[in-house]
Amino acid sequence: MRNLNEIHKPTSIADALEFLQQPGAVALAGGTALNADKRADVRAVVDLSELGLAYIRESAGAIALGATTRLSALAESPILRALANGVLAQAAHQSATSILRNQATLAGTLISEPAAVLAVALLALDARVTVMGATTQTFALDAWLAARAEMPPSLVVEIGVPLSNPRAALCAVARTPSDKAIVCAVVAAQIENGIARDVRIALGGVGATATRAPAAEQTLRAQTFDDATIQNAARLAAQGISPRGDFRGSAEYRIEMAHVLTRRALKELAS
Ligand SMILES: Cc1cc2nc3c(=O)[nH]c(=O)nc-3n(C[C@H](O)[C@H](O)[C@H](O)COP(=O)(O)OP(=O)(O)OC[C@H]3O[C@@H](n4cnc5c(N)ncnc54)[C@H](O)[C@@H]3O)c2cc1C
Repeated sequence: MRNLNEIHKPTSIADALEFLQQPGAVALAGGTALNADKRADVRAVVDLSELGLAYIRESAGAIALGATTRLSALAESPILRALANGVLAQAAHQSATSILRNQATLAGTLISEPAAVLAVALLALDARVTVMGATTQTFALDAWLAARAEMPPSLVVEIGVPLSNPRAALCAVARTPSDKAIVCAVVAAQIENGIARDVRIALGGVGATATRAPAAEQTLRAQTFDDATIQNAARLAAQGISPRGDFRGSAEYRIEMAHVLTRRALKELAS
């Protein structure tokens, strides 16, 4: 932020939205991504820390997560540890090292790392994103991730996770335990009498944002989780992606890992 001139610290969302209307104004959450960027276009930052948006609450059939909740609070939350085998708490823990977890926030992480494990876990759990701008709107997470770049500047205020409490499993591969996952898979399903319902498979590290695996989900619908069905679903999950390679892993490696991690996560779910 080489041209930063102003720092605002509003205490109401209305004031924050007004400051964000200024040309060159951006939201500052934990600041870990923003401060690392040498963006020349940023003239003013709007610090979100006094908006009262750091909370984890159960309300009306959903868990409401405030946008500025720190990753450390998500990782340590008893509510999230009890939800869906704790995959969301695990994802927050795996998102960054302990120093960063104490600083980085939920919305900041979703925005700066939309294909990483936190976005993947939220997608598998069918999360909704509430944003405020000229109007207040709530989007399914994948719709918001896909549309965000084209949307007018807005403030993420809350992420909602339905309290349907499915079983879930998270599998990831990374170069080191503290490095960003190269590929990750989170699967979630309601399982009744050995039959899977509402199966959601989300993958990260295989595209610009966290992504679902619809063909694999379809093949698992109302099925028992036997080895052949799991193998077939994992194969379909890997067939539906076309990742780019980078220094962490080639495109071919990512496709193979999407297969392996989906299979592992489904097996864990079945057991
Ligand atoms: C040394 C280092 C190591 C890292 N390692 C990893 C890793 O292993 N895995 C990984 O996934 N990530 C990693 N990261 C990235 C890290 O996860 C992000 O820096 C962090 O999650 C950003 O969160 P923040 O709250 O600090 O966001 P900020 O830096 O404050 O903001 C990031 C972006 O989001 C916008 N924003 C923030 N909150 C809102 C809101 N409520 N509404 C609208 N816009 C908003 C900001 O304007 C900005 O554009 C690493 C970062 C660093 C610096």
